[in-house]
Amino acid sequence: MPRTRLAPSPTGALHLGNARTFLVNWALARQRGWQIVLRIEDLDGPRFKEGAAERAIELLGWLGMDWDEGPYFQRYDLAPYQEATVRLANARQVYPCRCTRKEIELASLSAPHGDQHELHYPGTCRPDSDVPVNTDLLGTTGVAWRVRVPSGATNFVDAFCGAYEYDVGKTVGDFLVGTKLALPSYQLAVVVDDARQRIDEVVRGDDLLSSTPRQMLLYKLLGIGPLPTYTHLPLVVGPDGNRLAKRHGDSRIAHYREEGITAERIVGLLAEWCGCGPRREMISGEFLASFDLAKMPTEQITFTPADEAWLTEN
Ligand code: GLU
Repeated sequence: MPRTRLAPSPTGALHLGNARTFLVNWALARQRGWQIVLRIEDLDGPRFKEGAAERAIELLGWLGMDWDEGPYFQRYDLAPYQEATVRLANARQVYPCRCTRKEIELASLSAPHGDQHELHYPGTCRPDSDVPVNTDLLGTTGVAWRVRVPSGATNFVDAFCGAYEYDVGKTVGDFLVGTKLALPSYQLAVVVDDARQRIDEVVRGDDLLSSTPRQMLLYKLLGIGPLPTYTHLPLVVGPDGNRLAKRHGDSRIAHYREEGITAERIVGLLAEWCGCGPRREMISGEFLASFDLAKMPTEQITFTPADEAWLTEN
């Protein structure tokens, strides 16, 4: 049976935008008979908030989603990520880096700027390929670890966005697999977990589209596979065209729930945004019955004051 995952980051609240993505992921899984793993991506060290994971899990359930396995937490067992980093280091595919953010920013001024997740790294600490990597430095705070990114573009066909091409070396360069806090980066953690949890179907927001070539490269360097199928969905934006954020008002699911707004109303709005016809209150089971990926809008969705008014009217 194919497997997918719901992978909320408890450091970023569940809001109308990512709730829509999770709901689609859940509905696709239930329509197509995929098993669902719940994975809590709680490795975001400094912003870690006590109880946030439990709240995120509770809210997914409140909206009517369920899962077959998990929750699995990332931060309680770092060994799988450390093992992957050691393997990459022994194969001379990663190297230690002590550059500061300031240094990287300065170097980027005259070069590519990276993407929204990561600055372009100019390769300052990249050793010659015949120099063995000092693995004694693994696990040391203050030392980051970067992948020796081969030149050339990566291509793949996304199940929603179609053909996509991205040159990792030219845009972000040697990206991070380990941070200076001695924690795995998002890119490494997601690949190690998707592989060991045997995930075949990755459904997520298209802000992560450009991360996929990084992750595909890690699959290759680690010699693991097969690659999952990727489905990247357009985001929800505010009236100014920017990704839904605090400045557009409080669109957190927890906030609406505290205000006494029902899950049926929220699911109803998300359903309209997914091409299920005019908005009406519905439970997740009705969403599941009416959702059709082929009818999902390919454009970004704008969360308007009229949407907010519909949610909050009595
Ligand atoms: N944790 C990420 C999020 O909440 C998703 C990461 C992924 O799906 O790869 O947006």
